[in-house]
Amino acid sequence: MSTKDIVLVSACLVGLQTRYDGKVVNNPRCLQELEQCIWIPVCPEQLGGLPTPRCAADVVDGNGDDVLKAKARVICKDGVDVTDAFIRGAEQVLAIAQKQRVTRIFLKARSPSCGVIKRGVTAALLIEHGFSVVEFD
Ligand code: SF4
Repeated sequence: MSTKDIVLVSACLVGLQTRYDGKVVNNPRCLQELEQCIWIPVCPEQLGGLPTPRCAADVVDGNGDDVLKAKARVICKDGVDVTDAFIRGAEQVLAIAQKQRVTRIFLKARSPSCGVIKRGVTAALLIEHGFSVVEFD
């Protein structure tokens, strides 16, 4: 990593209070990777208009790719459909990534928004637009 890198990073990885449960947990390995970089923390679920803390949600009947194709939905544990907020947040993150010309993107694993292997909604949209993403647990 160099000082020229501009990294978009899931806000919860750097210890900001954005997690659905309101807990603050940072990722030391991610913070170490960011040491020499300019970084921009983003939380797609907050950017989509959801509060913190908020009800846990997950993609039903597919993954983030399917949500973007309107073939799956994001549903909270209490049954509320938050698909629109998840898509809105993903679009906001994409806009930031494009406007700031980020060179790297670090995302939180296992999240219905940010997870890369899990293929959350935001990760799916970023990948669809050609961004390379790395996940941290
Ligand atoms: Fe926000 Fe993504 Fe972290 Fe969830 S995983 S709290 S959506 S930044």
